[in-house]
Amino acid sequence: MQYRCPKCQSQKVIPVAQAGNATRPDVPKSLMVLVFSIFLLLLLIISNIVMWIFSKGAGTNLQIATAIVFVISAISGVLFWKDLPNFKLSMQAFMQSQKAWKCRECNNQWQI
Ligand SMILES: [Zn+2]
Repeated sequence: MQYRCPKCQSQKVIPVAQAGNATRPDVPKSLMVLVFSIFLLLLLIISNIVMWIFSKGAGTNLQIATAIVFVISAISGVLFWKDLPNFKLSMQAFMQSQKAWKCRECNNQWQI
């Protein structure tokens, strides 16, 4: 099955939300934890840098928090890596159950 626009052959196609289509990809919890912890880690790293520039180095609490969040992101990264095969399968099932598509290039809509 190819996901291309039948009109302009663009690959920039997006699924159109359908009423009554309950099939959704199964997003693993580890992915949500991973995204959240990476976001938190970036925030902590930035505050570490800011503290380091504007005062005499980051506080011990901030350093401990950064280390803890780093460990959490590493663990959730490994968990997500294990979940990845199942996530791919559920994404494929979602793509196949999706009947209505829209092209972002030419706004063409079509049904499979
Ligand atoms: Zn198109």
